[in-house]
Amino acid sequence: MRVSFVGLGYVGLTTAVCMAVKGFRVTGIDVDIGKIDLIRNGKPAFKEPGLEKLLSRVTSAKNFRCSTEYSDILGTDITFITVGTPSRQDGSIDLTQVVKASKNIGEALAGSSKPHTVVVKSTVVPGTTKSHVRQALEQASGRVVGEGLNLCVNPEFLREGNAVKDTFKPDRIVIGDDWGGAGRVLLNLYRKFYGGRMPPIIRTNTVNAEMIKYASNVFLAARISLINEIANVCQHIPEADVTLVAWGVGLDKRIGRHFLNAGLGYGGSCFPKDVKALTAYAKSLGYHPAILEAVEKVNSSQPYKAVELAENLVGELSGKKAAVLGLSFKPNTDDVREAVALKIIDRLLEVGCSVAVYDPVAMDNVRRVYGGKLAYASSAEECLRGADFCIVATEWDEFRKLKPRDFRKHMRNPVVIDGRRIYDPEAFSKSLRYAAVGLGNK
Ligand code: NAD
Repeated sequence: MRVSFVGLGYVGLTTAVCMAVKGFRVTGIDVDIGKIDLIRNGKPAFKEPGLEKLLSRVTSAKNFRCSTEYSDILGTDITFITVGTPSRQDGSIDLTQVVKASKNIGEALAGSSKPHTVVVKSTVVPGTTKSHVRQALEQASGRVVGEGLNLCVNPEFLREGNAVKDTFKPDRIVIGDDWGGAGRVLLNLYRKFYGGRMPPIIRTNTVNAEMIKYASNVFLAARISLINEIANVCQHIPEADVTLVAWGVGLDKRIGRHFLNAGLGYGGSCFPKDVKALTAYAKSLGYHPAILEAVEKVNSSQPYKAVELAENLVGELSGKKAAVLGLSFKPNTDDVREAVALKIIDRLLEVGCSVAVYDPVAMDNVRRVYGGKLAYASSAEECLRGADFCIVATEWDEFRKLKPRDFRKHMRNPVVIDGRRIYDPEAFSKSLRYAAVGLGNK
């Protein structure tokens, strides 16, 4: 079975490469020629553990090729749509890339009567596949969905930083199909891909499949905002500590311990836009989703808790030198889209701090945003040098290893704001001035 992917970002490239590793002949298409050139030279345009190695393996085995030409999908049997679905100004989903990709796929298939299956893997609001995608495909191809042209939706759940592992071992596969043919073809493909280790499969209609993706992301985002809300209350209770509270809560089997780490909120390319998109979508149906709005509201103010804590310990921040450790929206990725660190940096610059930053992999992406406005350090130690306070914004493992003496040795004024709760409050409070999200005053 030959497979093509339209959109070679985090989802498209990772899935395409993993399929090629399993022996499928894979074609990747992207409109960004710079990205295609990088990939052809064995370099993903982003950092994802294990991906570069697999890319070079499949490129030398010649079962992965990429281009900017949509006509290349003609040589394949299945095309996955993996383009972006960003937010519009009002938070609603922007389907421009999805519709354009569908139209281009349709045009490429117009001259052919060969069966072809199109799979929507991008995250789209309910109804998109059977309205926008179907319409664009049918209009551009002159073919009819359900009659040799198959269409289904198969949302993606991989996590950046763990994308390769998640692709080989997902929790579940969701297939939404209103016409029958595509679901069977896709199931067949996944049987070949996973062999005897088939993950649980949910087969349903397109709207349920689309909604499962949103409901999952919104649920996870809500857990983060809820534990952060509890952290914010704890901060006002002398001697309370949200880390211990969360531990006790998580031992309840009905709740579970995952996604109970209080901190500075969620970022990245998915949770923020998906919460906003589902909110806008619900409103367009005449329903006001109060909890979804609250999830977003708590999250949007959470990064600034770090700045407030710094002000509490340092006083007036204007003219002070800040060190920000961790810039990517979470560890093990260089993705800084909607990263909490960037909101903190913006606020620090606004109040007149000079800001030094360090991240193990995301420095180039941040340099592209801020240019000469920041000091870019080549290590955590260099970032801390001469600083009046430090904010830990992303919980990279290398920051967990830092001891109070490392901060004392390099900083002018050893003040640590632990935005991700990675340090022992007792050990740190003993030897420097330390504040953390969800930690009540003594
Ligand atoms: P991305 O922005 O990293 O990649 C999208 C790619 O599509 C880019 O390379 C872009 O150049 C390309 N593109 C845009 N328009 C195109 C067109 N008309 N034809 C061909 N290529 C085109 O996006 P991503 O993070 O990989 O996300 C893709 C989709 O998957 C989104 O809907 C997202 O919500 C969803 N998703 C993302 C993740 C994640 O962790 N990133 C996880 C699950 C689901």
